[in-house]
Amino acid sequence: MDPLLRIDPAGNGRRRISIYQPEQQGLIFPELPDFKNFEENRQYRKRHLVAACRAFAMHALDYGFAGHLTVRDPEFPELYWTNPMAVHFSKVKMSNLILADHLGQVIEGHYAVNRAGFVLHAAVHQEHPDIVAMCHAHTIYGGAWAATGRLLPPITQDAAVFFEDHVVITAEAGAVAVETNAGHSVAGYFKNVRAVIHQNRGLLTASRHSIDEAAFWFIALERCCQQQLMIEASGIAPQQVTPERARYSRENVGSSFIGWLHFQPIYDRIVAEQPDLFS
Ligand SMILES: [Zn+2]
Repeated sequence: MDPLLRIDPAGNGRRRISIYQPEQQGLIFPELPDFKNFEENRQYRKRHLVAACRAFAMHALDYGFAGHLTVRDPEFPELYWTNPMAVHFSKVKMSNLILADHLGQVIEGHYAVNRAGFVLHAAVHQEHPDIVAMCHAHTIYGGAWAATGRLLPPITQDAAVFFEDHVVITAEAGAVAVETNAGHSVAGYFKNVRAVIHQNRGLLTASRHSIDEAAFWFIALERCCQQQLMIEASGIAPQQVTPERARYSRENVGSSFIGWLHFQPIYDRIVAEQPDLFS
């Protein structure tokens, strides 16, 4: 079943999957989409992939041509939509997205694929059929924290979302992943985690739900790395969230739905301010 389809089969409306969903009827609140066919789902995924790229631009997560976001095609899950090579995140739009296969062959679209990035994404998607979307970019704070080779400690409720839900990879540290076997050597680490800190490389997030979720947790993880570096630079030892509370926070404010939900105001802002994303 498509992870975005969560209709109550009894026809009693949508299932309540989070305490944030209002019990009171008639209030405006983002709803998970309902698709009649693959094409509707595909258009949704492409629009939200474009918005995710633009959100990365807004958060200054760009570095030259580095950075790639992928989402599986709903009908052909062995194919992935991704941002075009050497196009700034702020200039990605529906018409310049590309569709590529596991080998990085472009199936649809006119632009080249980012080879170094795609090798890793394709390996992760291939080894983990449940992973729908992935994000990677070369960011300031994520890159700095990744150099420590340490897990991110839960110093805030936001950071607790990643507690026991991310790993640090030291394999292939600092090497540009242009070879297929380099991609496969790190893909195994993505089992059951939403994020990876690749030592000397930076951050990666994966979602079993949506590109919205993968993009939001990426933005969140970068921000958590910034906060962690700030508190360490202050020289003051932070109080950590206890493991029990960190797990409780992760389960309640760190679900896939919550990640998706966090992205909706960002999506709405981009649609309102940058209508050319649909061109
Ligand atoms: Zn990279």
